Amino acid sequence: MKNGSTVSVIHILDQATINQIAAGEVVERPASVVKELVENAIDAGARSVRIDITSSAKEILSIRIIDDGSGMSPADALLAFTPHATSKISRIDDLHRIHTLGFRGEALASIAAVSRVTLTTRLRLSGEVAGTKMMVEGGEIQETRETGAPEGTSVLVEDLFFNTPARKKFQKSKNTEIAHIHAILEGICLAHPEVSFRLYINQKEQLVTDRSTRILDTIARIYGSEVAEVLIPVDLSLPFMKISGYTSRQSVARKDASRIMIAINQRYISSTIITAAIKEGYGTLLAKDRFPVSFLTLEIDTELVDVNVHPTKKLVRLSREKEIARALSEAVKTALLSHDLIPDGVVPSQIYLEDACREAAAVPDRRYDFTAPEPYGICETRHSGTSLTERQLRQTELPTGMSPVDAKLPVMEVIGQLGGIYILATTNSGELVLIDQHAVHERILYEQVIARTEGDHRSQELLVPCILHRTLQETAILRDLLPALAREGFILEEFGRDTFLVRAIPVVLGKLEDTTMIDEMVSDLVNEEVVRSVNTRERITRIIACRGAIKAGTVCTQEQCQRLIQQIRYTKNPFTCPHGRPTMIRFSRIDLDAMFKRT
Ligand code: ADP
Ligand code: MG
Repeated sequence: MKNGSTVSVIHILDQATINQIAAGEVVERPASVVKELVENAIDAGARSVRIDITSSAKEILSIRIIDDGSGMSPADALLAFTPHATSKISRIDDLHRIHTLGFRGEALASIAAVSRVTLTTRLRLSGEVAGTKMMVEGGEIQETRETGAPEGTSVLVEDLFFNTPARKKFQKSKNTEIAHIHAILEGICLAHPEVSFRLYINQKEQLVTDRSTRILDTIARIYGSEVAEVLIPVDLSLPFMKISGYTSRQSVARKDASRIMIAINQRYISSTIITAAIKEGYGTLLAKDRFPVSFLTLEIDTELVDVNVHPTKKLVRLSREKEIARALSEAVKTALLSHDLIPDGVVPSQIYLEDACREAAAVPDRRYDFTAPEPYGICETRHSGTSLTERQLRQTELPTGMSPVDAKLPVMEVIGQLGGIYILATTNSGELVLIDQHAVHERILYEQVIARTEGDHRSQELLVPCILHRTLQETAILRDLLPALAREGFILEEFGRDTFLVRAIPVVLGKLEDTTMIDEMVSDLVNEEVVRSVNTRERITRIIACRGAIKAGTVCTQEQCQRLIQQIRYTKNPFTCPHGRPTMIRFSRIDLDAMFKRT
């Protein structure tokens, strides 16, 4: 290019190119087509929507969505493929009161820009006998004619990405794409129990929901009644928000958050803040790397929800986000802790197996697995001998004047102890309960540490200060932690280059005859890799609880066991240890009879 040249190098792109570029944002993969077309059907007031996919061994060949919604007049059908043509909003202000899934007027134009589309539609209740059929290819209308058609709309999409080879090349295997379609449809089905959906792949029925007013029916239809049975209802009404839906008992936990399904104002969305809020509601019921199964519906004042963040409208921006998240955590927590959450010895493993078998074939990643212990080596330390036991148990004596918060926990009677690890107990209704003595004691100590408020007398001086030697690197870490440790009752002083004096320890630890425990706790604190999701105070609390609790391998008397199960009744969450492992597992008479095939 020469300086001063009058030839312009900038030009405005032609409409077809503009549309193809825009399409890239909306139509990422076949599942995006399904999402947009199904959402249009719902917006058109459809009561039932049918999705037909055909595929070869390698790729998806066609997608057809048929609805019994409002249909379109011939004039509207023509307009529908124009970019930014929509019947859903007129002015920018309308964005504050969006009650439809679409509003950008981009989907049909975008889909048609990168495929071959055949639209057949007839206006409902118009008295018109004939409908309209249109063929659009790469954004160009090829043919429009009158046709006989049922009321409603059918959109057939073929040769997706035929004119955008780069996008086509990036498509994943057919099975991956089908898994995406499943995931998107499941979200939509759950957000719209009032619509019946049917998905067919190569004429084979894959997913069916019936119209229902209860989301639990939809959940059972999609994931099976075994899943629906282990869910706990969540309900909360606030002036600007209503939360309803279901969340799983802690015993059904997953390695990822993909089964946390959230709809805001009937739009299935993904939100890390909401996911985190739900997880927060489980607190120490779940290990930090486990996620529940949740199906929650939020109705939020439309003024507070901005859906115009991304062309796919899967992300939303929330005003009063913190308030919404806090309310959600509370709702989940309240729902969980008002239930008896002792896991059954039999039912969960059945879910695991049946679910795994049922789903293995079609859609990957739908397995449920059970809360496994966190890789906290420190929790599994064993030691032998009983000398510490009485001391350790003594300071967790029953708080006087408190009543148990345990309407959800059955009264239990100790039968005996197994291998110095488990307490065997029976409930008043004849169930067998296996209790992890370390986990139970850890939970008791943990809640006692938490219950002490700032300023409480939480420290006890050691008769003889204990001396700790640390490496230089550990010294540096420990130095930073001194104030936090002091708040929890550990008074440490620096004493030379790499030495600390421990002057006082938390009261909950009782009278320590053996100071190696202090050394161990400090080691845990400085060596344990940084747990990002947990703050320092929480870490110290957990370490106190874990190190202070009786270990596996400690023989306890009947009376000591009984005291532990008495004390657990005073905790807010008696069901898991602070790391999310179960404290007890129950076997009902029915479970036992089934195991012995007595039924
Ligand atoms: P948006 O949904 O954002 O309005 P679309 O490109 O998806 O944009 O659709 C454009 C318009 O076409 C819609 O506003 C609606 O009026 C009409 N339309 C699309 N799909 C259907 C359908 N299945 N039934 C009736 N009308 C439809
Ligand atoms: Mg739309």
